Amino acid sequence: MPWNIETSYLQLPEEFYHKQTASKFPAPQRVLTNEPLAEMLGLNSKDLDNSVLCGVVKASGSEPFAQAYAGHQYGHFTFLGDGRALVLGEQVTPQGERFDIQLKGSGRTPFSRMGDGKAALGPMLREYLMSEAMHYLGIPTTRSLAVLTTGEPVFRETVLPGAILVRVASSHIRVGTFEFAARLNDISKLRSLANYTIKRHFPDIQGSDNSYLELIRLVSQRQAKLIASWLLVGFVHGVMNTDNVSICGETIDYGPCAFINSYDPSAVFSSIDRHGRYAFSNQPSIGLWNLARFAETLLPLIDSDLGKAKEKAEGALNIFATAFQDTWRTGMGLKLGFSRVDAMELKLMERFLTLLELHRADFNNTFRELSLTDAFQSDFFRKTDVVEWRRDWLTVQSQNTLSIEDNHKLMQSKNPAIIPRNHLVEEALQEAQLGNFTLFHRLLKAVRTPFQIDPEDLDLGFPPTKEQEEGYQTFCGT
Ligand code: AMP
Ligand code: MG
Repeated sequence: MPWNIETSYLQLPEEFYHKQTASKFPAPQRVLTNEPLAEMLGLNSKDLDNSVLCGVVKASGSEPFAQAYAGHQYGHFTFLGDGRALVLGEQVTPQGERFDIQLKGSGRTPFSRMGDGKAALGPMLREYLMSEAMHYLGIPTTRSLAVLTTGEPVFRETVLPGAILVRVASSHIRVGTFEFAARLNDISKLRSLANYTIKRHFPDIQGSDNSYLELIRLVSQRQAKLIASWLLVGFVHGVMNTDNVSICGETIDYGPCAFINSYDPSAVFSSIDRHGRYAFSNQPSIGLWNLARFAETLLPLIDSDLGKAKEKAEGALNIFATAFQDTWRTGMGLKLGFSRVDAMELKLMERFLTLLELHRADFNNTFRELSLTDAFQSDFFRKTDVVEWRRDWLTVQSQNTLSIEDNHKLMQSKNPAIIPRNHLVEEALQEAQLGNFTLFHRLLKAVRTPFQIDPEDLDLGFPPTKEQEEGYQTFCGT
């Protein structure tokens, strides 16, 4: 089946988008194609023509547009919109699922402000690699269908090769889209967006008593689960502005994200996050703050009495804390091989994290080591306080109904052997920008089976040396 694009988003009032075509690029060339994703979308290699993927030729049914949205960036409200992206429309797959196809780096739009509307190759390759890693870790995420170089330079601090990323998302509706809608000061337009979102992502609540309140609940629940799953693999998103919070609960916008190495709850990598607003352990509370901004936009739809609307919305937001805690506790329990989580298991979890922090142990590799029956070789497991912890852990383990072997297998399926290590990602991107994709492809292959590691890829699992780790910073990648 070829491209089968619909543009249901264009049913929304016209303030929500700006129809336009992509800039023309001198010499588009494909550098990456995501075959498994293309297949899932029902596309074959013939459909993946560069002229379609860079927006020169419209795929069947496509009518490209830039989306309007707003957002709180580092706590401050701003009007935004797709300043360097165009949605081609929604590919409806042979299974009847609907995915936005978005070109990122496709040129200026009315929302570009001071920007050039373009993207550089390095950050687009980074998004491709990181989003694939997240997908195969089982974490909801937007994905990447292809990366093309445009044949044009982009000017940042230095001159860089320009690129387009073809992004695939369940949708690009964000908290910021609702913030934009609320500021149109027209309740019917806000209702259109809410109804469209419900129909597209939460059809089960259509026609329920107060579907807008239900919407707050479901969006909060998905965000809570998402953020808990980030914490379980040591992921720092880096720029959790409300325009980067997807309503359907996918990880979106891989600008300054990174995985932690040694466990540090206050880890921040983004060069512009000077006060640690989006630090590793702040992510749940920021998530809730973002959802409060979402809930505020829906108040007029919830009750004509503002006081009552607020009370109901606050009640709906309460689900965030419970859903976060449930997902985190169950997930952390499984990582440690607990078949249930009660007070004793909880205490062991907390103690383990304290020990990781105290001894600056590598977050993912230490969990992985625990899941291997022949392990406990590292210095960490020889420390007196860790030996004591392990003794208590074994006592709890012995009450597990699964055999030791099965339990360790289960733990191995929850504790990745491979995450995209920052120092390796940087090295792979440096080389790829010079035309050598060897390390990039090795990493990509490895992160696609994160719970098992090929013997020849053991080096990809090593944590960085002190020098490699020190002062590591990420950038927004604009
Ligand atoms: P981001 O940091 O990618 O979430 O982007 C925040 C906002 O800045 C969005 O509205 C983007 O569309 C816009 N933006 C980012 N980079 C550029 C660029 N190079 N040109 C125009 N707009 C941009
Ligand atoms: Mg963004």
